[in-house]
Amino acid sequence: MATFDIIRSLQKITMSVKNHYMSLPKGTYCQVTYVWISEDKESLRSKTKTLCKEPAGIKDIPEWFAVSTNITELTLVPVKMFRDPFSLDPNKLVLCEVLDYKQVPAETTLRSKCVEVMEKVEKFEPWFGMEQEYFLLDLDRKPYDWPPGCRFYTGSCCVGSEIIHGRDVATCHNLACLYAGIKICGYNPEAITSQWEFQIGPCLGIEMGDHLWMARYILHRVCEEFKVIATLDVQPVSGHLCPSGGHVNFSTKEMRSEGGLQYIEEAIKKLSRRHSHHLSVYDPHGGADNIRRLNSQTITSSFKEFSSAVAARDVSVRIPGQVFRSGHGYFEDRRPAANCDPYSVMIAMIETCLLGAAD
Ligand code: ADP
Ligand code: MN
Ligand code: MN
Ligand code: MN
Ligand code: MN
Repeated sequence: MATFDIIRSLQKITMSVKNHYMSLPKGTYCQVTYVWISEDKESLRSKTKTLCKEPAGIKDIPEWFAVSTNITELTLVPVKMFRDPFSLDPNKLVLCEVLDYKQVPAETTLRSKCVEVMEKVEKFEPWFGMEQEYFLLDLDRKPYDWPPGCRFYTGSCCVGSEIIHGRDVATCHNLACLYAGIKICGYNPEAITSQWEFQIGPCLGIEMGDHLWMARYILHRVCEEFKVIATLDVQPVSGHLCPSGGHVNFSTKEMRSEGGLQYIEEAIKKLSRRHSHHLSVYDPHGGADNIRRLNSQTITSSFKEFSSAVAARDVSVRIPGQVFRSGHGYFEDRRPAANCDPYSVMIAMIETCLLGAAD
């Protein structure tokens, strides 16, 4: 038996032991797990506080503290409450904004800026949906469950043991998100064995970023239970091309209404004039991740040039075929990297498409 299989067998024993503790009679207390985005804008952190009773809403959850990597104190401000799918009702997961020791939003957190931008464009009723691709790794960071002779490049949405690995992780993640109250609208196997995708949305404004970040947190927690790693790296396996992206779908009230295609085309024209700005904020490393991902070696658009088309995959921006045929709906920006900060992407899209930003 391979080492990781032994680890996973032990994990199953641990899980049955854990069930005993999970079934202990519950008092009136409520455990609230505070979740926040760490300074690298990629990883998540959390810690749990016991409240003496179930909070009725976000206002009942007190601020809390944490320590950042540079030893200054951080204030955790609860902004969005979800049900906890791990320790179950009445326990909560709560997404927090981070204030630095001067009590202002920490430099690396874009949520408060995103809220401000969304307030300016409220009348457009902007909707967002994001497709989160990820790749499963074994504990040694090699591709999860790639046996010899396995067919790696499969095309998405396949079925069958020869090709599909990790379906339990994706399925449990979906169920956990639904329990939590995350607006998760679907999931599918992606183009390479052990690569998966889930979709969030459509959500009004800031909600998309909040739900996506919490869905990522839930993914990492589910993976802890299966003893696998979910990576959002854009090219996680050296020597193999398996790019992971985070397509962001966008619409306004006008785009969704009769004749909306005209507004979609206008927005795409504006996006075409700010290609390099968008790529500089579509991954957490100023474009460096997307340079590795948006190359001509796989079906992606070009890092250097903007392109758009109806129903095509090798472009920066796609108008879905069905949207084109019906003359209204939404469009898809395929450039954001899998590890993007959704708040950063949403700010750029709103500024360019609706607030007339140009550079
Ligand atoms: P693809 O065909 O690109 O794989 P998916 O089905 O994976 O598309 O994802 C579609 C995404 O578009 C979902 O996140 C969904 O929430 C989002 N979406 C659907 N309708 C709208 C809309 N009107 N405005 C914004 N996003 C939308
Ligand atoms: Mn301590
Ligand atoms: Mn998709
Ligand atoms: Mn995909
Ligand atoms: Mn897509």
